[in-house]
Amino acid sequence: MEDIKKFLDKRREEGLLRILRPHGARRGGRIFLKGREYFDLSSNDYLGLSDHPQLIEAGQKAYAEFGAGSGGSRLLSGDSELHHELESRVALFKGKEASLIFNSGYQANIGILSAIAGPADAVFCDRLAHASLIDGMILSQARFFRFRHNDVEHLRELLQKERGRFKKAIIVTESVFSMDGDRAPLKDIVGLKKEFNCLMMVDEAHATGIFGSRGSGVAEEDGVAEDVDLLMGTFGKALGSFGAYVAASKLMVDYLVNTARSFIYSTALPLPVIAVNLASLDLVRHDPGRRLQLLELAKFLRQGLKDKGFQVKGDSQIVPVVLGSAFQTQRIAQNLQEKGFWMLAVRPPTVPEGQSRLRLSLTTYHTEEILKKLIDDISSAAV
Ligand SMILES: *Cc1c(COP(=O)(O)O)cnc(C)c1O
Repeated sequence: MEDIKKFLDKRREEGLLRILRPHGARRGGRIFLKGREYFDLSSNDYLGLSDHPQLIEAGQKAYAEFGAGSGGSRLLSGDSELHHELESRVALFKGKEASLIFNSGYQANIGILSAIAGPADAVFCDRLAHASLIDGMILSQARFFRFRHNDVEHLRELLQKERGRFKKAIIVTESVFSMDGDRAPLKDIVGLKKEFNCLMMVDEAHATGIFGSRGSGVAEEDGVAEDVDLLMGTFGKALGSFGAYVAASKLMVDYLVNTARSFIYSTALPLPVIAVNLASLDLVRHDPGRRLQLLELAKFLRQGLKDKGFQVKGDSQIVPVVLGSAFQTQRIAQNLQEKGFWMLAVRPPTVPEGQSRLRLSLTTYHTEEILKKLIDDISSAAV
């Protein structure tokens, strides 16, 4: 216990202690905390669907009809026709033959990677990939090579040097990156996948619901859904609900049902969650206005900040503003919080030294008016 206390004390001294800050409520793009109200610029509820009446109604109906819990894992008594209906719909949405639902994105990524890669294989992964992908690779016991963020030439070098030594090779990337808000060059990576005979997995957690004409993600928008072997995504972000999926070939899905331990050994998602996910997919398919509005807002915010001389990264609904030192960034974030904006200050070691940033995560609740005030407040806090 002494070690544990020391660890926490050290974290606290370095200003790196993680603490939980429960809010009273989160609705309409605002969070309510200790009697105050903030515009929420830290949420992944990009399309504002988490409190959409159609989703709430679908959930309420399913609770009344099916009850609260699923009663077991999918391979026991937890498997329902509704789970399969959602899987068919996801497959159509993503342009793949089949799909498999996982309980969360974290469980999907550790389950998939540990199932498809083993000690004789290699995983080539973008350096900024999400922790769940890293943990999946560690679990798989495959050899692990990280290429520089979105650097296709570096990936090519690594493949040229290392591919030959391994049985299977899997290239792993996200399509929209959480901390940089930028998109992966999926077409180029698909080219390398083919050239070097690899499998390819893309995590579309931040892209699902936002990019592509159906709203299914960047793989759709870039026309490469067919070439990506495993298209993973979640229901917990833009889709406003909970859970995750992988869309792939029927053969691959059958294999995962037999081997992905986070799928096999976990209670199935409750039917109300599945019903909400179905309702959410419907909304995304039939209401492209939301994602177009979101991307317009992102463009407006990026341009506004650039006009004021800020360094703004990315090309999505996630708008990172690089401010420099960790101290300065923290100070500005605090100042903005006092003005009613809730956001994340991203500091080393999450980003390199001198690259500390505000991570502004837009949702359809943010109007141009709110963003204008935000741009002004950032400008006056930064002087
Ligand atoms: C959020 C996220 C996950 C995890 O998904 P959950 O459903 O929250 O567990 C996986 N990958 C990426 C890139 C994410 O951003």
